[in-house]
Amino acid sequence: MHSPAFNKTKIVATIGPATSDKEMLRRLIHAGVDVCRLNFSHGTHEIHLQTLKNIREINEENSKAVGILMDLQGPKLRIGQVEGEIILEDGKDILVTTTSVVSTTDQLSVSYENLARDAKINERILLNDGKVELRILEILNSTTLRAHIVAGGPLSSNKGFNLPDTRLTVPSLTEKDIHDLEFAIKHHVEWIALSFVRQPEDIIDLKKRIAASGKEIRVIAKIEKPEAVKHIDDIIRVSDAIMVARGDLGVEVPLQKVPLIQKSVVEKCIGSAKPVIIATQMMESMITDSMPTRAEINDVANAVLDGADAVMLSAETSIGKYPVKVVETMSKIIHDVEEDRRVYYKGKKPHHSSPSFASDEICFTAVRISDHLKARAIVAMTKSGFTGFRVASYRPESSIFIFTDNKTLLFALSLVWGVRGYFYNKFETTDKTFEDVLEVLKQDGIVRERDYVIHCASMPIHKKQRTNTIKVSVVE
Ligand code: PEP
Repeated sequence: MHSPAFNKTKIVATIGPATSDKEMLRRLIHAGVDVCRLNFSHGTHEIHLQTLKNIREINEENSKAVGILMDLQGPKLRIGQVEGEIILEDGKDILVTTTSVVSTTDQLSVSYENLARDAKINERILLNDGKVELRILEILNSTTLRAHIVAGGPLSSNKGFNLPDTRLTVPSLTEKDIHDLEFAIKHHVEWIALSFVRQPEDIIDLKKRIAASGKEIRVIAKIEKPEAVKHIDDIIRVSDAIMVARGDLGVEVPLQKVPLIQKSVVEKCIGSAKPVIIATQMMESMITDSMPTRAEINDVANAVLDGADAVMLSAETSIGKYPVKVVETMSKIIHDVEEDRRVYYKGKKPHHSSPSFASDEICFTAVRISDHLKARAIVAMTKSGFTGFRVASYRPESSIFIFTDNKTLLFALSLVWGVRGYFYNKFETTDKTFEDVLEVLKQDGIVRERDYVIHCASMPIHKKQRTNTIKVSVVE
């Protein structure tokens, strides 16, 4: 029987009506979920709070630390109310207005107030996940424009719409996001994801608001706008992690460009030691079917081979018919692909221009030694998490165990490739901590006699500096 406990690639599952009760959450976590995503585009604070409490109670019961990722909706654009369902016909023209009217086949009401000011003639308006395409013909006044229906199709109330060619002037955090952010801070989730990031300043602003609260919450930039792809290096630099949000990304950029954007973002994130999540439609058919398609299996396998930190499930687990089975299936794919050496090492080396070059070199060398000795584990003590993120970024074949007294970090590490966290707060002497961690790993059946274990540590221990020491132990 395969156990998901030591898969390196993590699973993020979106929790919704199909999975928010405690027993179901227990089953999902047992099947291999590492991080639970609460999507604030749906559900009330009351519902999310109950889910969050359920997850935290399960964490108390278990040795596994499951993290919570709260996804802010960001400036998502939507159409208004529609008279039942309307069908837009190819080749006709339609008025698009920001006044609040019920939409018909002659006029479409949208939520974006600055539309007529920001949009330009010939730019596209995409509706319903890009299935319906309009092209702007004429700006009529400050609220209304006329557009040509290039590709028609059905439309119902509140469907999303995208302006991939337009430079939007919306703030990166809406009033709803600011209200949701207060919830996230109050309940101290480990990760917050921001949708529709356009520039590094969007992340800097969010981080400043979190810093003002005094809480340690890490920020994920969702890459789903062409502007974000353009500024990707700067966005990775200021973010704590990245999500390749392929749903809206595939609407905003030509679909065929998504695979290479995905690969390039994964490569850059590994290079910067920032976790990267691949999201959306990974196992889409399992929303209704009990088996994935061959193409979906390949999609998950390729993300694992590329070295993504995590693969994500959305509707498959939030409203799908087979939430546990989809996690089990994903977990088996990860397990089998990770038997292949192509998943590991990735040729990354420390760079002398890095401000943490010396510590990077320690982490890199620990990974190289672990490979040569076929070590069972790489173990590190950390408060900031630096060593955990860095060691993982060299993608070792050995398991990585991080011992920390920082509980927030312990849960945040649930998203990081290959890392398992342990709570440890007895930082007396280096020799003692080395002994203690070996004992813990031995008791948990992770290491056995004669196994090699590689330790990364900071000496002297009381100074709590970045990692500067490597020790090789043989388990007795
Ligand atoms: C996406 O667009 O791929 C995505 C993850 O965002 P959401 O599920 O919030 O629409």
